Amino acid sequence: MRAALLRDFKSPLIIEEVPRPTPGPDELLIEVEACGVCHSDLHIADGDWTQLAGIVKKPLIPGHEIAGRVVERGAAVANLQVGDRVGIPWVHRTCGECEFCRSGNENLCLMQQITGVTVDGGYAEFLKAPASHATPIPPSLSALEAAPLMCAGVTVYRALHQVRLSPGQRLAVFGVGGLGHLAVQIGVALGAEVTAIDLANEKLALAKAFGASKTLDARSPTLIRELRAGGGFHVAIVTSASKTAYDAAFYAARPTGTLLVVGLPAENICFPPILMAAGEIRIRASAVGTRQDVRGVLEMAAAGRLRCQISSRPLHEVNSVLEELRHGRISGRVVLTPQTPST
Ligand SMILES: [Zn+2]
Ligand SMILES: [Zn+2]
Repeated sequence: MRAALLRDFKSPLIIEEVPRPTPGPDELLIEVEACGVCHSDLHIADGDWTQLAGIVKKPLIPGHEIAGRVVERGAAVANLQVGDRVGIPWVHRTCGECEFCRSGNENLCLMQQITGVTVDGGYAEFLKAPASHATPIPPSLSALEAAPLMCAGVTVYRALHQVRLSPGQRLAVFGVGGLGHLAVQIGVALGAEVTAIDLANEKLALAKAFGASKTLDARSPTLIRELRAGGGFHVAIVTSASKTAYDAAFYAARPTGTLLVVGLPAENICFPPILMAAGEIRIRASAVGTRQDVRGVLEMAAAGRLRCQISSRPLHEVNSVLEELRHGRISGRVVLTPQTPST
């Protein structure tokens, strides 16, 4: 099968013919119809996250936003059939036994495997994955629509549910990229009044189209004053991997408000303790999601309340897609279609 391989950090991926994986007894072989390109893939390929670099499989097939069709199943698989459409997320396999798995936080499992990081992912024509962690895709969603929900969608879905964003509250969304444009929609669906902040006018226009009541230019010299003008926000979620976005978002939170950490810059983020204390600001982070969260976000999309803006590209264009992502030139989500022939 054809796959895009990461052989060395900071080098382009290499399209190669590699053996098709053989599923184990509890695994599925999945024909990959769509795989979203996430900003994390860029960090993984660059070896940016030194805390993660040691666990990255080498060589690696990246990609953790996968939608496809079951073409083969191991002897012990009972819950899914050949032909079923399934999604495979970032959380590839969990132990089911540790205290986090047992308390509804399997996304924090101490023994977890990660799709496209510790095991091969979806930048390939096929992948194998445990049937226990494959989620059926509702019939009304195409593979292209479902794929980005496996990371971008589930991440903001869990984050905004964890802070119990409620009707009438003010939500600031920093960065209207792959995650941000979904955060705007989930905020609107939860009844919040949403303000979107970004550098790019077309991304701000996209946020408006998805229901944001206000947009602000991230480059404005008076941004912090504008953010605080309405009394600040109950929740400020940062979905971009930009330290500058965090610097502004901290000041956007009203007293007792929450700065929600989702986007992951390579640099550390840092805030003045006096202001944290003075406003009793809460800082909360959220990490992708559980299988329950994956089902939740798929249901929301199937009900027409969440729509990912997607454009599809063949697998062999993966390096140019990653470069466009690096320079912030992608609106919404790019989804690779590995079944598209390369010529
Ligand atoms: Zn991701
Ligand atoms: Zn566990």
